[in-house]
Amino acid sequence: MSLPNQTLPPLVRKRLDRWLAHWGTPSLSRSLRIEWSSRLRRSFGRCYQDERLIRLTPSLRESQSFLLSEILCHEAAHAAVYELYGAVAHPHGPEWEAMMRTAGFEPRVRIPVVVRNRRSDVPVDRVIRSAHPSEQRRQAAAAGRRRRSAAPRKRARRRR
Ligand SMILES: [Zn+2]
Repeated sequence: MSLPNQTLPPLVRKRLDRWLAHWGTPSLSRSLRIEWSSRLRRSFGRCYQDERLIRLTPSLRESQSFLLSEILCHEAAHAAVYELYGAVAHPHGPEWEAMMRTAGFEPRVRIPVVVRNRRSDVPVDRVIRSAHPSEQRRQAAAAGRRRRSAAPRKRARRRR
């Protein structure tokens, strides 16, 4: 199967739009860009929240296409969390987990796959933080504030 760059299979596209509507971020249907990138080697996908961009590894189009919906949902939920709560929300925090569950997926950050006859865990996002250095500093500062203040309470809630 070969698809032009930036094209999702129609059924997957339809699913994405349904999730975004469900999460209360329907405007992302138009603004969120999806790219296939062969530069993603050690992860399946990555979300650049502040750019409203999702990059997916081309292997998801072929042999591991059964994972495409889940990886896309994982990354789209990052974009939706950022849209609704900003950089202060934890990338895989309770808001993100809730979005994954309403879409019908168990929220998981690593996915076990068979690579060259060996079992290994492939992270969905190689880098969770945003692409721009300035944004990274902002997120790091926000994370530091979170750790210092509400960390114990938030962490306890996340464990449930
Ligand atoms: Zn993630």
